[in-house]
Amino acid sequence: MPVEKYSRAPEILEHSRRIARKFDLYRNALLGTEITGMSWEEDHGRWRIETNRGDSFTATYAVMSNGPLNRPKLPGIPGVETFRGHAFHTSRWDYDYTGGDCTGGLDKLGDKVVGIIGTGATAVQCVPHLARGAKHLYVFQRTPSSVDYRGDRPTDEDWVKSLQPGWQKERMENFNTLVSGGFAPVDLVQDGWTDIIRNLLFIAQKEGNAGLSPEKLAELAEIADFQKMEQVRGRVDEIVKDPATAAALKPWYRQFCKRPCFHDDYLAAFNRDNVTLVDTDGQGVDAITPHGIVVRGQEYKIDCLVYATGFEVGTDYTRRAGYNPVGQNGLSLADHWKGGMRSLHGLFVHGFPNMFVMGPGQAGFTANYPHLLAEQAVQIGYALGEVKARQASRFDLEDEAEQAWVDTIIDKAMLRQKFLEECTPGYYNNEGKPGDRSRQDSSYGEGPNPYFAILKSWRDEGELGGLALS
Ligand SMILES: Cc1cc2nc3c(=O)[nH]c(=O)nc-3n(C[C@H](O)[C@H](O)[C@H](O)COP(=O)(O)OP(=O)(O)OC[C@H]3O[C@@H](n4cnc5c(N)ncnc54)[C@H](O)[C@@H]3O)c2cc1C
Repeated sequence: MPVEKYSRAPEILEHSRRIARKFDLYRNALLGTEITGMSWEEDHGRWRIETNRGDSFTATYAVMSNGPLNRPKLPGIPGVETFRGHAFHTSRWDYDYTGGDCTGGLDKLGDKVVGIIGTGATAVQCVPHLARGAKHLYVFQRTPSSVDYRGDRPTDEDWVKSLQPGWQKERMENFNTLVSGGFAPVDLVQDGWTDIIRNLLFIAQKEGNAGLSPEKLAELAEIADFQKMEQVRGRVDEIVKDPATAAALKPWYRQFCKRPCFHDDYLAAFNRDNVTLVDTDGQGVDAITPHGIVVRGQEYKIDCLVYATGFEVGTDYTRRAGYNPVGQNGLSLADHWKGGMRSLHGLFVHGFPNMFVMGPGQAGFTANYPHLLAEQAVQIGYALGEVKARQASRFDLEDEAEQAWVDTIIDKAMLRQKFLEECTPGYYNNEGKPGDRSRQDSSYGEGPNPYFAILKSWRDEGELGGLALS
């Protein structure tokens, strides 16, 4: 059982190791190995897979699950390549340079001036540690995050003893229902996410609202959103002492324009004498020089630059995966998806037999991401079992089934188009440019639960609809 409500890195790592031991992955998986190529061998009805360690092996079926945010992104700031101090991306944290470990204690930074670019979910976590460790910290901000109360606490042992088998699934589904705007009689998780949604998405279910038009409900939702964001902005005033810094840290956009953040030390870090917020008023940093960062003509000299600039979203899937599967007739996935993603349920792709894709594209977007993976794993297990039960060894997705799902995804994405267009730039809206391509690459617009229901009814029908077996 996790020792606290929000698990920290060492505990998550230990859990991952436990999984690897239980399923004998240290012996059976190629850990620390990168897939560099994947091609369909039509004559043999199998995939050939190549790795960066010179392996070449075959597989009847292939599942791609490369992660939604796995390729670090550096900003396209002029001069980025000229910086001569020490620099690293947050996902490649250089503890040799900073000292400390993932619990903090960055004790080698005491004589260093550090700059951090980016104020999203990662920066919110590392700024308090950098603030404690560095001689001086400059935080360069394009748009502030919305940072609400987190309230981590030890797991209650009595509560643990009261749990019955199946509790984890029940809790996961309860959370997903609540954060997707559905109704559940109890809130088993009780955190910032469920609180936000209770305020924002339950408008339609509130007493007296049942008969209201969609326009009126949207208006009420916008007011509730504003009230919630006022509370988040009010929290900045309560914590941050300098009024100008507080004003710059206030988010002026709707709650789900960006990933909501929760942290109890981030805002307080700006009260320290050794921390300076350099707000760029939505414009971003102007330039990087060999020894500093330039904002509105002023150069801030630094020894170390930390890029908290996130991960690629919206770039080509095959670029992020680091390999480009070649399917039937020599067609590569990059070419097949040149005009946007094409699939059935985000899982099957026409022209790529015996291949599954796991991830949010044309699938469901869950606030608890592993929930999506768990549902997709059930679907994959079911499909493989059925193929075997029907004495087949190959499935092909039909063109028409793929086109129908692409049309559905584009159609449903229109539901969020206006909302996204009005948001400040970020990874939720393709850096401020939501368009045809991002609509087609998006998740199912009605939300994860209706998407899961579609997967379930596909299973219940028992027809493997859209797939041809041989
Ligand atoms: C800052 C941040 C905060 C987040 N917060 C949350 C959160 O609060 N809740 C939440 O649910 N999710 C969160 N996420 C999303 C998070 O990415 C997922 O929850 C989860 O890690 C995804 O699991 P995954 O296995 O799909 O991908 P990953 O954990 O990214 O794993 C993908 C794996 O595939 C490997 N891989 C990729 N390409 C190749 C290749 N060519 N060959 C071999 N291996 C390859 C990668 O090395 C990696 O090990 C957050 C992500 C970030 C970056």
